[in-house]
Amino acid sequence: MVDRLVDSEANARRIASVEDNFGTSGVSLSSANRVLVGEGVLTKQCRKQLKTRQFFLFNDILVYGTIIINRKKFNNQHILPLNELQIVTLDDIGDRQFGWQIISPKKSFNVYAATNSERSEWITHLRTCIDSTIKRGERKSTTDPAPAWIPDDAATHCMICTKSKFSAMNRKHHCRKCGKICCNPCSTKRLLMPSQSAEPVRVCDPCFTEASVRQSAPSVRNDSSGDDDSGTDTGPAVNDNDTETDAPPTTFY
Ligand SMILES: [Zn+2]
Ligand SMILES: [Zn+2]
Repeated sequence: MVDRLVDSEANARRIASVEDNFGTSGVSLSSANRVLVGEGVLTKQCRKQLKTRQFFLFNDILVYGTIIINRKKFNNQHILPLNELQIVTLDDIGDRQFGWQIISPKKSFNVYAATNSERSEWITHLRTCIDSTIKRGERKSTTDPAPAWIPDDAATHCMICTKSKFSAMNRKHHCRKCGKICCNPCSTKRLLMPSQSAEPVRVCDPCFTEASVRQSAPSVRNDSSGDDDSGTDTGPAVNDNDTETDAPPTTFY
């Protein structure tokens, strides 16, 4: 399927169109042997809520972005290499249906398709493309993937001490190691997690202790200032309430 599309004019045109739609907010996506396998709109669990995002599956990367105008304009481009990606199917819980988790060293999160068959299609293609990175010998082992953050509305109290109640004054924070929501006093420590950030990042006390035990001399910093959870993955302020009136169907080529 992918071989048929390499060097095809249709593939080159599709990739140019994706580049075009991201404009200056994205990077060049043309690359030798790269094929656009499929694209579609998925719902992504962001920190505060579920948000629609446009996803593009290439044979070597997964790209997604915020929809500014359906089919025409996207920004906030993210690129995840498939050679370090894992996927896990999620159980349906309430209205969170047809989901799977995307796990990578830099970022992990849950996404949801509109239907079960759409999910099957995405997972089949994702698995095929991920397997092809193994066949090409490009696979990287991911020993320490980023956690998928537990959404803000899932906790009213700190998940570590279980006593501290969140409010406008007592803000929620996320541990970058386990993804749990915690209060500031339970997450004053910082750990260096190079796949996520060049700077040490916030971790909860249990994760810090565990890392300290595992590593005799962890690269750590104790600092409760300067880090807030804002600007993580909430996307730009521009027109983010895209109500998908005519959401394009998922297309695999
Ligand atoms: Zn706490
Ligand atoms: Zn933790």
